[in-house]
Amino acid sequence: MAPPRAPRQHKKKTFIRKRVCRFCADKNLDIDYKDVKTLSSFISDQGKIVPSRIFGNCAKHQRKCSEAIKRARQIALLPYSGTSRVVR
Ligand SMILES: [Zn+2]
Repeated sequence: MAPPRAPRQHKKKTFIRKRVCRFCADKNLDIDYKDVKTLSSFISDQGKIVPSRIFGNCAKHQRKCSEAIKRARQIALLPYSGTSRVVR
């Protein structure tokens, strides 16, 4: 868990900006498992699927997105685990 922070001096401030779902905002943008460029922006360096609270995807599109990522992994378009980083 995160270490305890220093007490805030100002009034309570929302530090996570509400982000609009990218796919809801742009109707032309479609989730496709062959679209590696779009999907790769939703996975972390380690190849993990980034949670929706980070990117602000709505539940519907996050579900579609993760399905597409998993599909793309199966046909080796996306990595299951990190590429560049060598562990240990
Ligand atoms: Zn959406």
